Amino acid sequence: MVSEMGESTHTATQETLARLPSGTQIETTIHTYTGLNDGPTVYLQAAQHGREVNGAEVLRRLHDHIVDADLMGRVIAVPVADPLTFDHVSYITPEQLDSVHPNMNRVWPGNENGSVHERMAARLWSYARQADVIIDLHTGSPDMLPHVVALEGHADSLALGRVFGTKLLLTEQAHTAASEEWHRRSFGGKLRVTAVEEGIPSITPELAYNKQILEDAVNTGVTGILTCCDTLTSSMIHRSTRGHRPSLVIISVASSHQSPVSSALIRT
Ligand SMILES: [Zn+2]
Repeated sequence: MVSEMGESTHTATQETLARLPSGTQIETTIHTYTGLNDGPTVYLQAAQHGREVNGAEVLRRLHDHIVDADLMGRVIAVPVADPLTFDHVSYITPEQLDSVHPNMNRVWPGNENGSVHERMAARLWSYARQADVIIDLHTGSPDMLPHVVALEGHADSLALGRVFGTKLLLTEQAHTAASEEWHRRSFGGKLRVTAVEEGIPSITPELAYNKQILEDAVNTGVTGILTCCDTLTSSMIHRSTRGHRPSLVIISVASSHQSPVSSALIRT
C-alpha cells in the first residue's frame, strides 16, 4: 500500500518474519515514511512483549502526525514487532512456539537459521540496522513511573533519552560492567544493547504499565518520538504542516552528558 500525502510517501508492507512448522507465516506490518529531502533514518518498534500495548498505540497515533507531514529523512515503524506474543497478550511466547528463546528481546540481532524468535529478530534487524537511531517501546509494571532506559556511558543514547522527555532516565550497565543477573538473563540480546554495539544510539522508553491503553503514557510516547525527530534534524518534521508542536523543552546533546551515578537512576 502506498499513499502520497503532503511531501512524504508512506508505504505499509506485510513482512514475513518466520514460518511455523505447519507453514503458517508470521507476518507483521512495516510502515515506512519517506521524506522528499535527505535526513536521518529513525527505526521505531513496539510490542516485542505482546501485552505491552501502549507502544503499539503510540505508533498508531504517530502515524496521524507524520503521514501528511513534510519529512526530512525516513521513519520506519513496526507497531507489532512480535505478533506471537501480541495475539496471546503475553510477555513471552507459549513455550511450544520457541522453547529455546521464548523472549524475543534476548536474541538480537537474531539468526535467520535459528529458533522462531531468532528468525523473527533477524528479519526486523534487516530494517533496524539501516537506522541512525533506534527507539524500542516497552511498558513496565503498575508501580513503575514512565522512564527511558539507555546504556550507561553511551553519550548519544543518553542524550536521546533526555530528549525523549520522561522525567526519569535509567542507565543500564552492560557486558563486563554488568551484574551476574544481567548475563544470566541474557540482557546482551536486547535490541537496545545490540544497536549500540553496532554504533546506533538506542533507547527503551518504558511507558507506564501493561494490558491497557493509558492516555498519559501514550501522549508521552508520541511527544517523545516527535521531539527526538525534531532534535535529530532540527526540522525533520516541518510542524507548520501540522499546525502545532509539543511543549517539551528540548535538551541539547552538548549539555546532556552527566557522569553515571552508582544508583544508575538519574532524575532529569
Ligand atoms: Zn517489554
